[in-house]
Amino acid sequence: MRMIDHFISGGTAGLAAARKGKVMDPNNGGQQAEVVLGGADALERAVAAAQAAQPAWAAMNPQRRARVMFEFKALVEKHMDELAHMLSAEHGKVIADSKGDVQRGLEVVEFCCGLPHVLKGEHTQGAGPGIDVTSLRQPLGIGAGITPFNFPAMIPLWMGAVATSVGNAFILKPSERDPSVPNRLAELFLEAGMPEGIFQVIHGDKEMVDLILDHPAISAVSFVGSSDIAQYVYSRGVAAGKRVQAMGGAKNHGIVMPDADLDQVVGDLCGAAFGSAGERCMALPVVVPVGAETAEKLKAKLIPAIEALKVGISTDPDAQYGPVVTAEHKARIEGWIAKAIEEGSELVIDGRGFAMQGHEEGYFMGPTLLDHVTPDMDSYHNEIFGPVLQIVRAADFEEALALPSKHQYGNGVAIFTRNGHAAREFAARVNVGMVGINVPIPVPVAYHSFGGWKRSGFGDTDQYGMDGIAFWTKKKKITARWPDGGGDGSNAFVIPTMG
Ligand code: NAD
Repeated sequence: MRMIDHFISGGTAGLAAARKGKVMDPNNGGQQAEVVLGGADALERAVAAAQAAQPAWAAMNPQRRARVMFEFKALVEKHMDELAHMLSAEHGKVIADSKGDVQRGLEVVEFCCGLPHVLKGEHTQGAGPGIDVTSLRQPLGIGAGITPFNFPAMIPLWMGAVATSVGNAFILKPSERDPSVPNRLAELFLEAGMPEGIFQVIHGDKEMVDLILDHPAISAVSFVGSSDIAQYVYSRGVAAGKRVQAMGGAKNHGIVMPDADLDQVVGDLCGAAFGSAGERCMALPVVVPVGAETAEKLKAKLIPAIEALKVGISTDPDAQYGPVVTAEHKARIEGWIAKAIEEGSELVIDGRGFAMQGHEEGYFMGPTLLDHVTPDMDSYHNEIFGPVLQIVRAADFEEALALPSKHQYGNGVAIFTRNGHAAREFAARVNVGMVGINVPIPVPVAYHSFGGWKRSGFGDTDQYGMDGIAFWTKKKKITARWPDGGGDGSNAFVIPTMG
């Protein structure tokens, strides 16, 4: 059986692993590889390598660090097909989605190619007589990233590219469900000229996460995953004196106003609700038609479009989505569908019991559509994270606005309308972190930033963009006085002081 090891310093660690995890094959069912579930020995080794390498990396001029990012970008593009196939084989998403996963991460790498400009800092000449003040950003030292299964390339790159390009060493603890791509990214960073010990990967589960959170040499932890674990990671990391950002789960709503272009909405919803089998934190699993007439018209158009969706194996170029990640996750999604029916939702299309010919053991699900879902239902309140779309009907704009605003999650939301005023009002008032206007998945580009509100994000900085730079650096403020050295003692410099 293929064994996936840690990537420590310049290669595989070769440590004896007391525990191992199973890496499943979502397309065919069954186990395809083993991954080491590491402990303190692996983490200590990675920290020692990081401590040895980081000072010289931080001292390197930023342009040279940026050149590593340029080289890395070229290497990832060269290996795009290989990475996408590796990713699809463990995650189950179709190749086009895997390429998107890599590409969205690469856009953050592109942002990091411009790091010398961003790190220039601020300077005031003459803040007092003969006094200059400089604010500059310095790396934290060693940072860690803990990432979910659903974007095994993009999210490690959101964190790892920013953390390393500003001069930190970065230790990644990826999801144990699809661990191969992170190791390959580590190899490519090395090939791009990054020194050993700057981007490392250690595999594990909760035990490793706790070791990271408690380790005194790790200054910052960036986490992305489900909300209860995000909150736990945030609290424990902060209690240990670390800087922590922790992105959590989501239940994104798409509001459909009566004047929306319904054909566009249906096309967008089919991609946003079912693409990647709904395993996206920016999926749109809830659609909110405004008014009974909009609801009926939308439903009539949605049903045939959803029924026409093509589910297939990850390598099928015609498939719109592939299997979900594990048999346990499939059972969990089916459990939520049963719960929604029990709670009184109308089952319009049932995706359970779907079998893919020739891949009967794979973790496939057909698309599910539920109508008359209401805010008091557990199946509305919680994240399902599968190919399931719920219709929650709203009587008017205010009721529609209140739904995502009051929901426990506040990651993304979209409004579909031709009315500029309604869109503007919605964007201004909705209590959610990322808003799309006629855009179904409002993932902001790499030079803005990504982050949700409420239980979708703990901590006060977003991922990537200038927030990423702020998270992975600390600000130093230097106030300097250079006397003219006249020697007669007559220099009366005044340094500004507080109070
Ligand atoms: P998860 O929370 O199960 O796992 C995330 C990470 O935490 C993994 O590395 C895992 O090994 C680790 N972990 C698991 N159990 C733990 C525990 N008890 N204690 C400490 N660490 C633990 O998430 P997942 O199933 O891999 O990913 C899906 C979730 O991630 C969904 O909720 C999705 O919405 C969320 N997500 C959020 C964003 C965002 O930006 N907000 C992006 C992608 C995914």
